[in-house]
Amino acid sequence: SEPPAPCVSFAHFGFDQDVMGTIIKAGYTEPSAIQKQAIPVALQGRDIIGVAKTGSGKTAAFVLPMLVHIMDQQELAYGDGPIGLIMAPTRELVGQIYAETKKFAKAYGLKVAAVYGGASKMAQFKQLRSSTVEILVATPGRLIDMIKMKATNLKRVSYLVLDEADRMFDLGFEPQVRSVCDNVRPDRQALLFSATFPRKVEYLAREVTENPIRISVGTTGQANEDITQVIVVLDDEMLKWDWLMRRLPGFCAEGSIIIFVSRKGAVDILAQNISESGFPCGALHGDLMQYERDKVLRDFRANKYPILVATDVAARGLDIKSVKNVVNYDVARDIDSHVHRIGRTGRAGEKGTAYTLITRKEERFAADLVRNLESSGQPVPSELMDLAM
Ligand code: ADP
Ligand code: MG
Repeated sequence: SEPPAPCVSFAHFGFDQDVMGTIIKAGYTEPSAIQKQAIPVALQGRDIIGVAKTGSGKTAAFVLPMLVHIMDQQELAYGDGPIGLIMAPTRELVGQIYAETKKFAKAYGLKVAAVYGGASKMAQFKQLRSSTVEILVATPGRLIDMIKMKATNLKRVSYLVLDEADRMFDLGFEPQVRSVCDNVRPDRQALLFSATFPRKVEYLAREVTENPIRISVGTTGQANEDITQVIVVLDDEMLKWDWLMRRLPGFCAEGSIIIFVSRKGAVDILAQNISESGFPCGALHGDLMQYERDKVLRDFRANKYPILVATDVAARGLDIKSVKNVVNYDVARDIDSHVHRIGRTGRAGEKGTAYTLITRKEERFAADLVRNLESSGQPVPSELMDLAM
């Protein structure tokens, strides 16, 4: 059948008063482009592969129809185990989606739980066992642990979401994600979302969806054009620090800053140097204990300090309103990671700036960066052109 016409107003989606009330309370006046297109399709029960730029409201595009789907289920009053299952690649993103989902699910009294690695298995086990949750948000590994421990089961899952879906099909995740998907009943509705969707994962996506509608807003993998990209070509690695010290006071006056580096060890060193130079600063990477990761992100969100130095663990999905500048102190491992990193600013129609520091040592990245700048309407400095040649 033909896909339904896009809806231009939240009032046209047929949501009931409770959902509408929550949407208004969230401050959403008009659906974003991806919401206009994806919500009516999701409400029809179709599978979706949805691709839209960072910060464009993909979360609500899968959460709002999920609530309607769950409220429609005959077996809502019976059985146990979640009906809606959302998987995401990082613990921090799971936490954020959990908070967002809870906000919307409250109107219906639906219970939401989150499970993710690093935190106590026993506590999560008990939480899942103690009451029926209708919606579960999870990282794949911990979800599998919980299923093995019989903390929950997937028998009722009929609405399955993979957020940051291309990442979920990356080498490390793919077997786990596939095993979860194989254990969800085949007639489930599946929704896959990301800002980047390389062709090589498209066939994997097709295996967990059935006859999906592909909804693409803008060009796949394009950087959000609300982000001004500034490329700083430097002769030497050591010059990065001088550049940062010159610019940090100005950045701090504008809002929060995320600085990305490639390696975990380098995060700690840079964060310490920044702190010692008088700028309050947090560090986030995968070698920290989960309680440390939680605290750092909580404090950064609460504006307790303006600077966060992080690995790519912070590259995907995180929505922190105060972030006005992103600095790629090291270039990203590939152009898709670059798009996600810089997408931590310029969200929900706001403007932001992303600085990418690049030296000759990183010239392998230059050609891809040139193409990315051109496709998102950003100026390409001649020094970068030279590096790309
Ligand atoms: P994405 O997943 O596409 O990167 P998010 O779902 O994280 O984007 O949403 C980005 C921000 O936009 C969030 O702060 C969210 O609350 C806000 N947002 C989502 N939908 C709307 C809307 N229709 N109007 C205004 N703000 C919105
Ligand atoms: Mg998102």
